[in-house]
Amino acid sequence: MIIVKTVNELKDEIAKLSGDIGFVPTMGALHKGHLSLMDRAKLENRYLVSSIFVNPTQFLAGEDFEKYPNRYEDDIKLSKDIGVDILFMPNIDDIYGFDEVTIKAPKVRSFTLEGYKRAGHFDGVLQIVLKLFNLVKPTRAYFGKKDAQQLSMISIMVKNLFLDIEIIACDIIRDDDGLALSSRNIYLSSSQREQALAIPNSIFKAKEIILNGELKSKVVIDSMKSILSNLDIEYIEIVDRDFNQIDTIEIDNSIVLVVVKVGDTRLLDNLFI
Ligand code: AMP
Repeated sequence: MIIVKTVNELKDEIAKLSGDIGFVPTMGALHKGHLSLMDRAKLENRYLVSSIFVNPTQFLAGEDFEKYPNRYEDDIKLSKDIGVDILFMPNIDDIYGFDEVTIKAPKVRSFTLEGYKRAGHFDGVLQIVLKLFNLVKPTRAYFGKKDAQQLSMISIMVKNLFLDIEIIACDIIRDDDGLALSSRNIYLSSSQREQALAIPNSIFKAKEIILNGELKSKVVIDSMKSILSNLDIEYIEIVDRDFNQIDTIEIDNSIVLVVVKVGDTRLLDNLFI
């Protein structure tokens, strides 16, 4: 595995490759969710390129940018073990300059849900993803369904800007107790983690009642709310794959989204129907 820190080094290393490149961008503190994306990228491409960069432009003032978990030594070992060929770990100054051209996420679809709660977040996500795509020039890029709206925004960007990159959506990986893996889970105390299990339980309940034929969004949302009643729910919504809220669930075209705060930690989960 080659570790590169600067843009010029990365360009030099990418120029040496000939064959399909699978790319997995991350913010580090790697867990089995990240590794599942890497595994798949490794299988489907000749080369696996990954990046670790905690991107300042996607954090809002007051969010956890300053304290975002940093596990670089473990991350390097995990990346090497899984077969990453090139690991890009830039500094902020390598990536951003003064008074830059910026990217705007689509107005309607980025200003609901996560975009409404975190105004400007997706502009920052698209800005860094586009920069990384331009540097890595991947054949395929792998993103988790866990961040469903992010995945959708990136797919729209690729389509709208005519980027020649295939976006691969990867399933959510959960811990044994059901909690979706997230770098932010390490903020949870053991009692908070216990409480947080209501989140996957609400998702599993939604799945069960939808599989039993219940298609009314309100009924599904109400049953999730009752399971999450002791937690600070930011939102529970059912949307189609274009992120329009829907009253009736459409099989193969819907997503159940839940965001809950446990203490200061925001946890996301969802279910693609
Ligand atoms: P992050 O480091 O949080 O920016 O995540 C990097 C990538 O890993 C994103 O595409 C995420 O959607 C994906 N990811 C994060 N958690 C999971 C998970 N539990 N299962 C699958 N993919 C995940």
